[in-house]
Amino acid sequence: MNAIYTWGVARALDGRVVLRIEDHDRIRSRPEFVEALLEDLDWLGFTCDEGRRPLLRQSDRDGIYTEALETLRTRGRIYACDCSRTEIGGERYAGRCRVRALPERPGIGLRVQIDPGPVHAIDLMRGAIEQVPAEQCGDVLIKDRDGNWTYQFAAAVDDWRQGITLVIRGADLESSTGRQVVLAGMLGRREPAIFLHHPLIVDARGQKLSKSAGDTGVRELRAQGVPAAEVIGAAAYAVGLISAATPVQAAHVSSLFELTSPSLG
Ligand SMILES: [Zn+2]
Repeated sequence: MNAIYTWGVARALDGRVVLRIEDHDRIRSRPEFVEALLEDLDWLGFTCDEGRRPLLRQSDRDGIYTEALETLRTRGRIYACDCSRTEIGGERYAGRCRVRALPERPGIGLRVQIDPGPVHAIDLMRGAIEQVPAEQCGDVLIKDRDGNWTYQFAAAVDDWRQGITLVIRGADLESSTGRQVVLAGMLGRREPAIFLHHPLIVDARGQKLSKSAGDTGVRELRAQGVPAAEVIGAAAYAVGLISAATPVQAAHVSSLFELTSPSLG
């Protein structure tokens, strides 16, 4: 469970926890899921230092992303792209629209040209990360054809603008790191964030439990009368943080981590 790592590591490093609702995609993000997630965090006892009241939502930050897009234009090359996911077929975009000079208009996406070469980042658990975004994903999509800011862009902008020094997230997002570091650099961020990609809790079929779908398992356990500390303890045990499923209070999750990093301010 992401909250155990986020609060545990942040508190172990004397850091602050900043909440952000990633509802950049208005079609796929449902307000009831956000409500359920916040209620679960409250019930478990995880308190944010920032971003909760008022709630920081990406859907309220259109002006900030528009401004960041203009910054990118001055430092890199932005171009319009009308390719569909089916046409691209896979994760890597080969750059078909780079030379097409399509006009920017509603119904068309925007990409930023990415330089070839490796990008480096630090992962607190796994060590040095080296990725080559130009080969992994090609030119990064900034805004999709439906007019939504993309996750990659919104996250890079917010991490920079909110002064996030440590990004704690699941291992499934590790492949996004290089492209987000590149975007942040193009936006003018001088010190890139440090990352921590934690193992995921998977269900019996080996599928990742999706927090966006409210499928944390917390609801069900709570309804069955399981105390919060037992839910946290079971999750910590499931990812191997403790050797037995003993209860852990939210306020004590930092004791599950022994991390020191002088480079985190
Ligand atoms: Zn294209």
